[in-house]
Amino acid sequence: MSSTIRKTPRFSRRRFVSASVVALLVSSSQLRGELSRRRVSFGVFSLFEPSELILQSTDSLSLQLEDRRFILARDASALRIRWLENRRMAIDINGQAMAASHFSATALSGGTTRFTLAIEPSAKHGGIRREFQGALEVRALASCLVPTVSMDVETAVASIVSAESPPGAPQQFLMAQAIASRSFLVAAHTAHGGFDFCDTTHCQYLRGPVVAGSPASVAAACTAGLYLTYGASSLGGHPIAAMYCRSCSGRTSSLGELGLPEGDYPYYAVDCEFCRHHPEIWERTFEGPLKPGSERERLAFDRIHGWSAIPSSSFSQNQKRIEGRGIGHGLGLCQRGAEAMARQGAGFSEILEHYYPNTEIASA
Ligand SMILES: [Zn+2]
Ligand SMILES: [Zn+2]
Repeated sequence: MSSTIRKTPRFSRRRFVSASVVALLVSSSQLRGELSRRRVSFGVFSLFEPSELILQSTDSLSLQLEDRRFILARDASALRIRWLENRRMAIDINGQAMAASHFSATALSGGTTRFTLAIEPSAKHGGIRREFQGALEVRALASCLVPTVSMDVETAVASIVSAESPPGAPQQFLMAQAIASRSFLVAAHTAHGGFDFCDTTHCQYLRGPVVAGSPASVAAACTAGLYLTYGASSLGGHPIAAMYCRSCSGRTSSLGELGLPEGDYPYYAVDCEFCRHHPEIWERTFEGPLKPGSERERLAFDRIHGWSAIPSSSFSQNQKRIEGRGIGHGLGLCQRGAEAMARQGAGFSEILEHYYPNTEIASA
């Protein structure tokens, strides 16, 4: 059964039944049944293109190399997975040297487990070591290894809320963030091959396992199964891949204002009181004209000059000097503004209604 928590449409919704709406409804009703069982996969260390990975766990692991199975005892020494030519990798397991194109590690039950994955420092980067909770898969591609961690949606939501939220953020803000993040996970269609999402800000930033009872974990648990829907409320609406940003210019944007095509939700420009009074201001110097308000142009520029070269598309240019407001695309929930709303007593539903007008909160 599904239920709708908020029904406050501010405009008359288009009422039509087209093939695309029917398709969305089918996926929406399937979603309700599947959400608690659904798993999502993250390509991790996406930016490093690793040639070697170091895997370690304090739990016993079930390992699979193509069709061969092994048990790795708890507290075993670290496994080194090295990339080989011809889309293969080399692994030493229990003193046995083996090669495979595909490797996986799960709990003995086949489910998720806790493990750390590391990359040693190299000439290209400083190395990294991170803890995960999930099931690990590693594929060997033509030039590097691709590690993927899969987990259930709720574990991912808690981890993303923890990564995306400032320390000490109010609980109602964390709950609003949890619902937006869950909506993104269930509705987004990303262009990654081999996994659903990357672990950078391109998709959603994922951090390691969240401690039970932590504010992020409580926010995920309190909102479990809740996600945002848009459109044709009498027919149930469809889940939206809710986007959010770090801070806005004092007013959020619609997709149309940023020159972006309409997706599953048009977004609406709404006032953001906190950013209007306390904007995050940035300055850059740049030779040559840039068009304010064009998100496509900004992203193309940042792709070449670095991801914070021009932090938002809300700016003015005076010869070489560019002065702007806000960090990010300015679509949907503004984290700074939402946090301030929560501090002033707003509930998660009110926060979501403000930043995602005309949506509803559905329950799986
Ligand atoms: Zn991505
Ligand atoms: Zn804002």
